[in-house]
Amino acid sequence: MEPVKEDWDKAVAVVAHPDDLEYGVASAVARWTGQGKQVSYLLATRGEAGIAGMAPDEVGPLRMEEERRSAAVVGVTEVVFLDHPDGTVEYGIALRRDLAAALRRLAPDVVITMNFDLTWGEEGPVNHADHRAVGLATLDACRDAANGWVFPEAGPPCSGIKSAYVASVGEPTHFVDVTGTIDAGIASLKEHRAYIECLGREFDPDEFLRNMAGYIGLGAGCEYAVAFRHYPMD
Ligand SMILES: [Zn+2]
Repeated sequence: MEPVKEDWDKAVAVVAHPDDLEYGVASAVARWTGQGKQVSYLLATRGEAGIAGMAPDEVGPLRMEEERRSAAVVGVTEVVFLDHPDGTVEYGIALRRDLAAALRRLAPDVVITMNFDLTWGEEGPVNHADHRAVGLATLDACRDAANGWVFPEAGPPCSGIKSAYVASVGEPTHFVDVTGTIDAGIASLKEHRAYIECLGREFDPDEFLRNMAGYIGLGAGCEYAVAFRHYPMD
C-alpha cells in the first residue's frame, strides 16, 4: 500500500447512512481537516430505518443530529442529506442524478466512498444493499458530474474530480496514517449515542477502531491507519 496523496484541497465523502463514515474513515477525515483541507459529507439517507423498535419519524431527525455532531468532531461542517429511503436505496438513474447534482455543487477534487462489494471480505457477511447501491453509484456519479450532457438539469458540470477512494475494501491500494487523529475518530463514532445504545450488544468504539486501524497499520508501517482502494478519475 502507498500513502494517499494529500495534494488536494476539497473532498466529499459519500455514504448511505449516518454512522458509515465513523467506522474508520473519520480518523482520516480528522487528519485532512487538520491540514486545512475542506471535507463535506453527503449521505444518501437519513438512517431512519436503523433502530429496531423506534419509529422512523423519530429516528431520522435523531440520527441526522448525531451525524452532524460526529462530523463536527472531525472538522466537517457541511453535512448534506438526500432523502432516499433507508433500507431500500436503489442503484439507478435517480440516485446517480442526485449524487451528481450534489458533487457538481460541492466541486471536490477527491471523492471518498465505501465498500460496495457483495460481502465484507471473501467469507464475510453480505454487505448492506444500500452500501452496494450508494458506493457503486458514487463512482458512476463522479463521471456523470463531469459530463454536462448527462443530467443537464442538475447544474453546471464540474471537472475537478481527480480521484475516488473506497474504504473498507478487501484489497486496498492506499492508506492514511491516522496515528495522530484516531482519538478524534473514536470521539466521532461515540457521538452516535442513541444508535450505539440500541445495538443490543456490548460495543466499545475505542477498542473496535483501535483494533481495526492497528491491524491496517501493521501493513502500512505505522501505528494506526485507514485503508482505501484508489480509482483514478481523470
Ligand atoms: Zn450503513
